[in-house]
Amino acid sequence: MTCWLSIAVATPAHSALGGPLTYRSESPLAPGTLVRVPLGRRETLGVVWGEAAADDRLELETRPVAAVLDGIAPLDEAWRALVQFSAQYYQRSIGEVALAALPPQLRALDAVQLARRLKRRRGDGGPAGAAQPARPQLTPGQQAALARISSGGGPFLLFGVTGSGKTEVYLRAAEQALAADPAAQVLVMVPEINLTPQLEARFRERFEPLFGAEAVASLHSGMTNPQRLKAWLAAHAGHARIVLGTRMSVFASMPGLALIVVDEEHDPSYKQQEGARYSARDLAVWRGRACGAHVVLGSATPSLESWHHSSPSGEGGGRYVRIELADRVGTSAAGAGELPRVRGVDMNLQPKKTVFSAPLLAAIAERVARGEQSMVFLNRRGYAPVLHCADCGWKSECPHCSAYRVFHKIDRTLRCHHCGHTQPVPRACPGCGNLDIAPLGRGTERLEEQLGELLQDIRRPDGEPVRIARIDADTTRAAGALESQLAQVHAGEVDVLVGTQMIAKGHDFRRITLVAAVNPDNALFSSDFRAPERLFSLLMQAAGRAGRDAAWGAAQGAKSEMWVQTFQPRHPLFQSLKHHDYPAFAAQQLVERRDAGLPPFMFQALLRAEARTQEAAQAFLNAASQDAQDQDIDGSDRVTRFPAVPLTIQRVANVERAQMLIECDSRAALQRFLAAWQPLLHARRDRAVIRWAIDVDPLAI
Ligand code: ADP
Ligand code: ZN
Ligand code: ZN
Repeated sequence: MTCWLSIAVATPAHSALGGPLTYRSESPLAPGTLVRVPLGRRETLGVVWGEAAADDRLELETRPVAAVLDGIAPLDEAWRALVQFSAQYYQRSIGEVALAALPPQLRALDAVQLARRLKRRRGDGGPAGAAQPARPQLTPGQQAALARISSGGGPFLLFGVTGSGKTEVYLRAAEQALAADPAAQVLVMVPEINLTPQLEARFRERFEPLFGAEAVASLHSGMTNPQRLKAWLAAHAGHARIVLGTRMSVFASMPGLALIVVDEEHDPSYKQQEGARYSARDLAVWRGRACGAHVVLGSATPSLESWHHSSPSGEGGGRYVRIELADRVGTSAAGAGELPRVRGVDMNLQPKKTVFSAPLLAAIAERVARGEQSMVFLNRRGYAPVLHCADCGWKSECPHCSAYRVFHKIDRTLRCHHCGHTQPVPRACPGCGNLDIAPLGRGTERLEEQLGELLQDIRRPDGEPVRIARIDADTTRAAGALESQLAQVHAGEVDVLVGTQMIAKGHDFRRITLVAAVNPDNALFSSDFRAPERLFSLLMQAAGRAGRDAAWGAAQGAKSEMWVQTFQPRHPLFQSLKHHDYPAFAAQQLVERRDAGLPPFMFQALLRAEARTQEAAQAFLNAASQDAQDQDIDGSDRVTRFPAVPLTIQRVANVERAQMLIECDSRAALQRFLAAWQPLLHARRDRAVIRWAIDVDPLAI
């Protein structure tokens, strides 16, 4: 008996082959079955999507399925529905989304290799049912939050400052879900797993004794392919009761999914920036609704979208239920554990070219002498963003990008942070031969050096000189480097930590009593309307690094502080920060967004194009827009298409980049428009265009 099947395979993004392809099989195969099929001259992994439509059954051309991976249960309907929705919403093919959602090694192994792999991993189910590990008595606020979550409904937005006990609520909600049903599974998503090793440790500590070591699985891109396959299989088979992962884990196959937690839900890294540009947070909400799992989004500074959707007055559509954790756990009458006092330094009143104002420097020195730690951050790595010749005006431009190469002093290189182009620093100015070319501006490397000079006479309580360390993408390139550097900070071996926003996120530093943002103003003048939102959340998160350990702080008599050096001390953003008042900041931003017709009051998409020349890239976009108008496609009267413009960094690696913004006040109309536009874009075979892509709900404009 011949069966005709429609099978999802990863087709090249630019072939117009959007849907699954048709194959023959001698026996029927259930939807979701993993198979190996021929594609061109290769054999590739595919997922059976269903029966092929009658008119696709062209006996001569259809090729047979090569092998069935029957050691793995078919992917269930919920998973397929998620893939289907994602493909449709983000304007990609089902095959691309489905295959990208599977672990890379699954694509590489043939049926025999896979069978061997599956045999190997059978074994210990772990010491399930061991004693319940000790856990803290919930505060009344946590109890109320937990009760609200377990009573159903949602999605929930758990709003609470760092240290307010959100993670403990996730742990208990997970515990309840897992106890309620032996097949239940919980998905916990975090922005970047290696930045939050403590969260993973807490989940393992809590659940491994109950369900065994296999029960907690991680899924992120830092894992090797065999590790990822193993974790994926454990989730798919239901052995992994808890999956902890980054954005990719939203696609994990979890047949028993009962709860999804999205921690730090505002974090931009939940948005995939290539291929299918999905938002893992938004897909988590969709997935939870579709399969009946509870969804908890947590943050101290929610995205303005989530804040708006959870507005108690219902003006955001009442789509989310907001739950607030008002205080830090363990806040005492003595003030220990309280949020740090925010101190602004008006840089207009400081001598010109000041990097560390005198009062900030004194405050850091005082802490070093007392044996407390400080953290200083600046959002720019390297030594200086530009090298410059004062004689002829030469600057260290990248020959391939419209950007400067950054000076890294440690190996005396000029490195382009966009294309990677790296060269030794020239001995003399390439323009005029001047020997005196100087760094302009500063990055973390220079900040560290400068701080070392300024604090050279300061002693720790043990009489030793101050110890300064730096953590950023440059110091953490080697595997395990971040972990060992963090361990040093935790062990108290570091007095002052200098770094990029990497250090402001997530870490549970116990002894930091001072956090300083030395130059955060750039974001206030950015052309990206989300820049203030991101800055506020970064500063709040950074502030949350201080005074984490209430008991230690109280014993020490330490008062924690957050310092902000700014030329705009009266900016509403800093005023809200001073009072740790996210709701005030959000209210002000939402008014601005509403007046300006921006998300969440408007829905957006971008069409991006890359070409050898900027003209070609823009011409493609404008012509595509004209096509939509000429053919009067569905929704074209409702959407606004703006003229094509170059990206902020318009040339990267000799490729010119342009984009067109598309706006609509209705998500559904925008979706209809994009769906109708796709075929026109594919039909426009423009040889000058290297690639184009649609970004739905873009985060950076
Ligand atoms: P958040 O996730 O909001 O930053 P956490 O859940 O990490 O907050 O809690 C902050 C600190 O307080 C952690 O060290 C945690 O172990 C502790 N903690 C949380 N809930 C309680 C509680 N009910 N009783 C005592 N300590 C708690
Ligand atoms: Zn010169
Ligand atoms: Zn470059």
